[in-house]
Amino acid sequence: MITNLGIRENKDWKCLACDQLLKLDRVTIEYMNGSFTVELPCCPCCGMVLVPEEIAVGKMLEVEKLLEDK
Ligand SMILES: [Zn+2]
Repeated sequence: MITNLGIRENKDWKCLACDQLLKLDRVTIEYMNGSFTVELPCCPCCGMVLVPEEIAVGKMLEVEKLLEDK
C-alpha cells in the first residue's frame, strides 16, 4: 500500500552531488515501528532520497495519526 503524501514533482529539486533533477519514486520508510511506502523525490543517478522539510515536520504527524487510528 502506498501512503500518498501529496508530493508533486518539483523542478527545484536537484541532487547536489549529481546535478540531476530528482524524480518521484516509491520509497519504503520506517517510522514509529512501522514501514510505509511513499512517493518521495529520488536522484535517478545515485539514489539519494529527498525528504522535503514540510514532509518531515508536517506529514509525518499525519502518518503518526494514521498509526494511532489502527
Ligand atoms: Zn545523485
